Parts: sequence; C-alpha cells; structure tokens
Amino acid sequence: MKKLMIDLDDTICTDGYLKVLNEYFNTNYTYEDLDDYYVESLVPDDRLDEYLDYFYTINVYDYVDVVPNAIEVIEKLSKKYDVYICSAYVDRRRPKLSGVAATLKHNWIIDNLPFIDPKKIIFTGTKDVIACDIKIDDKYSNLKGYGDVKLLLDAYHNRNYDEEKLKERGIRRVKDWKEIEKILLD
Ligand SMILES: [Mg+2]
Repeated sequence: MKKLMIDLDDTICTDGYLKVLNEYFNTNYTYEDLDDYYVESLVPDDRLDEYLDYFYTINVYDYVDVVPNAIEVIEKLSKKYDVYICSAYVDRRRPKLSGVAATLKHNWIIDNLPFIDPKKIIFTGTKDVIACDIKIDDKYSNLKGYGDVKLLLDAYHNRNYDEEKLKERGIRRVKDWKEIEKILLD
C-alpha cells in the first residue's frame, strides 16, 4: 500500500481558530480579511498575550467544522492506502503549551476518524522529514520533501502561488475532497 499523509487543520477540519477569535473580540472577521496563514495576525499586538492566555483555556476543536466530504473520502482512502494523519503542533509563542495543542488534536482525530489506527497519527514541526508517497495539505511549505503526488487543498492563504511554480514543484491544486477522491480513487 502506498503511504498517504494527510494534514489536519484546514484540510480535514476548519474554521475553529477564526471562530474562537471572533467570539473573544466580538468581531466578524472572515478569511477575506487575512493576508497571513495565521488568524492571530488579526489580533492587535498589545492584546496577543492576553488572547493566547485565553486560547489555551479552551478547546479550539469544540469550534471546528468538518471540511465537506473529508471524513467519508478519507475512510474510503484508508481501504486503498496506508493513511497517516500528520499535524504540526508547535506553537513557537508558547512552546511549553504545544503539548496541550497535540492532546486536543489527538483527541479530535480519535473521535472523528475512528478508522485511523492511533499509531498512524503523527505530530511534528517539520513535515518535510517524513517519507510518504502522497501528501495532502493546505499549506504550501508542508508539501516540500518526500512525495510523488502532492495535493494542495485550495485555501485563502495559498491562492497567490503561481500555478506554473506549483507545477514545477510537482504540486497540484485541488478545490475540494470530491476532486481528491477522483484523483486518488478513480
Ligand atoms: Mg493545514
């Protein structure tokens, strides 16, 4: 079986980070307001510490939505591929709390992707060292390194990557999980 590595945030589940931020600041930001990968870039510098203190008292995964069709397609993929869920968990601003983030991610995966062997959950800060045949991620830089097939799930923060440049690096942009299903299962 080919090894398939799938990202978690904004690939399988989404919107949690933005919802928590909007609730805390009583704002209505959308992804259109962002020009950075991290939603915390919307927080004023002088309130970031206070916000992070709050953020680590809640479970952001209580706020997430599942990306349409992600779970059904991953379950189908898990019958044909050796599927790993791989998530970056390091928070450089609060390194000691990275373990908290890993626990929350782990529990969400266990609850929502019960067909994934817990041994196949990977937490790292550097996805490019992990060998696999196929990668699915919404973050361009996570598609560096190993992989014969690299699928970039379309997102607000990766739209400015030139399609020619993606092609040169062996990366194919996909718009949703139905398209992934077609590519990997048809
Ligand atoms: Mg992601």
